[in-house]
Amino acid sequence: MKGLSLLNELLRFKSLTPKDDGALNYIALELDEFEAFFIEKEGVKNLLLSKKFADIGEHLAFAGHIDVVLPGEGWDTPPFKPTQKGDFLYARGAVDMKSGLAAFITAVQDVKFKGARLSLIITSDEEGEAKFGTLEVLKFMKEKNMLPDYAVVAEPTCESTFGDTVKIGRRGSINAKLTIKGKQGHVAYPEKCINPVHLFASRLAQLANYELVGKDENFEASRIIITDIRGGIELSNVTPNELCIMFNVRHSPKLSLEDLKQYVEKLCEGLEFSLDLKQGSKPFLTDKNSKIATKLFQSVSKITDLSPNLNTKGGTSDARFFAEFGVSVVEFGVKNESMHAINERVSIADFEKLCLVFRDLIENF
Ligand SMILES: [Zn+2]
Repeated sequence: MKGLSLLNELLRFKSLTPKDDGALNYIALELDEFEAFFIEKEGVKNLLLSKKFADIGEHLAFAGHIDVVLPGEGWDTPPFKPTQKGDFLYARGAVDMKSGLAAFITAVQDVKFKGARLSLIITSDEEGEAKFGTLEVLKFMKEKNMLPDYAVVAEPTCESTFGDTVKIGRRGSINAKLTIKGKQGHVAYPEKCINPVHLFASRLAQLANYELVGKDENFEASRIIITDIRGGIELSNVTPNELCIMFNVRHSPKLSLEDLKQYVEKLCEGLEFSLDLKQGSKPFLTDKNSKIATKLFQSVSKITDLSPNLNTKGGTSDARFFAEFGVSVVEFGVKNESMHAINERVSIADFEKLCLVFRDLIENF
């Protein structure tokens, strides 16, 4: 099926996380020259499609998610009825990331590939917890001894022009909750209270936007970003019993959870406190000179006449799971400006170029 009509079909499925609304069956039928494995866990459905081209050689995979976030109110066109207006196609998932899926599904059809195996990994559990999605497929592939050597995740990566950005890694994310303990009391008798806000006030500057590791060639600086701070019971005559500060750190591989723990513990020296740290996702970096990064760079340059910037900006994605399994992974897709927004839209010309980039990558790998 031609790319654009396939994209229209995929956009009609109401695949709200973690539902695929029948889209995965539809894709498996569309690519019947590929062997299909449905990997289901805890009500989440994932699809692995794989085709052997030779006995020995490299295994290249494309990956993405069929699930989308809730559309929200206020759309000009129905979010699950793709509507073409001018040069754009409007629908929930147009950018994030059914255009990426439709592009690689189109690119692999009747393609010539010199490696051993091409696979497509499609999950319906990315926008939520992502517990039973791509991770489960990779476990399955590992058990079957068929993990790919290289993977391209087709998330929307471009910033202002299609072709300007390839992602070669992602920052990690640590969530933290720090509680400073005190003793509540009457505001007129501060000597009888232990005021945790007063105790911590002079130290707050060493937390707020504090740069733990500087920016380097591949990663933005790793800083502490406060997301919530509260203490007290909203009364002007009672001092607080506790001060609770929540923060997040998006970090490069140069900072570990243990480093952060030591920093905060030192900062809180002399105070009674508790600290809860959780690693959300781990950081990873694929070498700029790796085969996958080099080949993708060449294909993007050829189709768009641009030299894409290779960076690690933005939030997390399923690419981190590939990195954990030792797969050399990069990400490339359409412009990300309207992802998760009302009136999400993709440029049709950009989508068609994305199909060509993936096709070129496979044929020249
Ligand atoms: Zn996405």
